Amino acid sequence: MREIIKYPNIVLTTPTKKVTEIDDGLIELLDEMYQIMTEKDGIGLAANQLGESCRVAIVYVDDESGLFEMINPKIIKKSGMTVDVEGCLSFPDIYGTVERYDDIIVRFVDREGYEVEAEVSGYLSRVMQHEIEHLDGKLFTDKIIERLSPDELIDYMEEHGYD
Ligand SMILES: [Zn+2]
Repeated sequence: MREIIKYPNIVLTTPTKKVTEIDDGLIELLDEMYQIMTEKDGIGLAANQLGESCRVAIVYVDDESGLFEMINPKIIKKSGMTVDVEGCLSFPDIYGTVERYDDIIVRFVDREGYEVEAEVSGYLSRVMQHEIEHLDGKLFTDKIIERLSPDELIDYMEEHGYD
């Protein structure tokens, strides 16, 4: 089983390579990414966070929107700006508010090889942008407006109506 790569490992700040073939290794990677993300209570994970420098990310924000397995994802349309709090499995105990696009259209290939276009907004859109930036070698800590400690995070979430 792979391990979550923590900052500062160079794989996190290196742009990942585009996937050219969906083979058994890639399917195994997707399955393992889901297993590790779920174990760590994450809502998104990029392949380079497991040390695999390929353009693959997964997102699972809630049961309603379900699991997104994104191969070679690309944001093709974006609008609106919004600020909300984020964390990252590669930065334990660091949280902070980040400005993101509110609505995006993302295009990717799924594990069956089909091209998918999804129009998403709100927190789902935020997490997708966070994960796609991982694939570009970019980190949310470079965009933090206000950093929050784990205690301040709890206060922030209560104030903003998260459960
Ligand atoms: Zn992250």
